[in-house]
Amino acid sequence: MTRPASPTTLTRAYAYALDPTPEQVSSLRSHVGGSRFVYNALLGLVKANWDENRQRKDAGEEVAKEDYLGTRHLDLQKLWYEKRDELAPWWPENGSSTYNYACLNLSKAFTNSRAGRSKFPTFKKRGSVSSVSFMSTAVRLVDSHHLRISRVGEIKTYESTRKMYRHIERGTGRILAATTSERGAKWTVSFTVEVQRALPPTRAPERVIGVDVGLSTLYTGATPTGEHVLDVANPHHYVAAEKTLTSAQRIASRRQGPRRGVAASNRWKRAQQRVQRIHSGVANARRNLIHETTMKLAKNYDLIVVEDLNVMGMLKNHALAKHIQDASWGEFVRQLEYKTKWYGSTLVKANRFYPSSKTCSQCETVKAKLSLDERVFCCEACGLTLDRDVNAAINLARMGLAGTNSVTGRGGEVSPEQQKLAATAHPDEASTEPSSDVDGVGDTSV
Ligand SMILES: [Zn+2]
Repeated sequence: MTRPASPTTLTRAYAYALDPTPEQVSSLRSHVGGSRFVYNALLGLVKANWDENRQRKDAGEEVAKEDYLGTRHLDLQKLWYEKRDELAPWWPENGSSTYNYACLNLSKAFTNSRAGRSKFPTFKKRGSVSSVSFMSTAVRLVDSHHLRISRVGEIKTYESTRKMYRHIERGTGRILAATTSERGAKWTVSFTVEVQRALPPTRAPERVIGVDVGLSTLYTGATPTGEHVLDVANPHHYVAAEKTLTSAQRIASRRQGPRRGVAASNRWKRAQQRVQRIHSGVANARRNLIHETTMKLAKNYDLIVVEDLNVMGMLKNHALAKHIQDASWGEFVRQLEYKTKWYGSTLVKANRFYPSSKTCSQCETVKAKLSLDERVFCCEACGLTLDRDVNAAINLARMGLAGTNSVTGRGGEVSPEQQKLAATAHPDEASTEPSSDVDGVGDTSV
């Protein structure tokens, strides 16, 4: 449970406005075009190959497995090397990392389509935004106001890249990739950087909270002394949006979608965009709520106790599955796991057989049965009447605290693990505040 201050790795995005010279602009545009060309050319080759094989099969011919062009990153790269002189004799004008990245992107598009996450890859068109990605080998920061992209040169940034540059300089940051985009007349670069962060020492468990995760009330938090301190209602993002979504999907399905040789209608595109917007609206609202709550908990409490939910097992219960997915229980615990590390607090996961809901928080009598629709806990032994979730949260908080009694002086059983925690956590560390830039990290960590 305890851990000394140690670095943890996370992925962050850094974006900056660029001030390229006219020559650099034309070079960047050439990379954009080159990358799109490779993507489309390879997609065309694979499609033609598959169509041909299908025709041969229809004609009763035997088609060997080797006759199919592969779609793995390496397959596509090999195909590009074989065809580039013939298809694009101008290819040496651009850096090879761009072509490589296009192969990787196309390979991912094939993987996503096979896994049912997206449609079959389509040709990339010139859009309102043109962007191109570079592999880590082709980009580096020169100083806090310049980056160098091979073949393009040293480009000035409008803002200081100090925060990111410091990480690179100290060796605590590593560029994974960079994407430059042109929107209107504006250029930006977005870096994906793997960052190592030193963690604060674990705080002494003075502020303790038990959190019950449920469906009607999403998060119910209580202290060991029975104070009800957290109450986050379930906004039912998905369930509420579902009606709107169904109608949007029905509208889209009535319109002219893309078919062989027929372009999709503008009305179809608009309807599709609407479906996408509803999807991302739901996802964003849910993400924000989880981020906000986990951040608050990790910052304001030293010891957070949650149930170790067997979410996967529960997802098999179809009646509840949609609601549980909507509430994102697993994501909540996952975020608490890393945020408690950032802020020096501790997460305790109660054994999932611990009867936090069935135990009376006043007299500790355990009920034999408690059905899901009993929203109020009524104890037959001592007469306690309390909201079911609040009762469970109090029990969780006490269970977590039970092991740290040597710190709080309450007496009772102490597990060896928690004894270690008590011994290493100094009270004067309780006020340790993490560095201020931790706040922004939440959204980009993976
Ligand atoms: Zn009782």
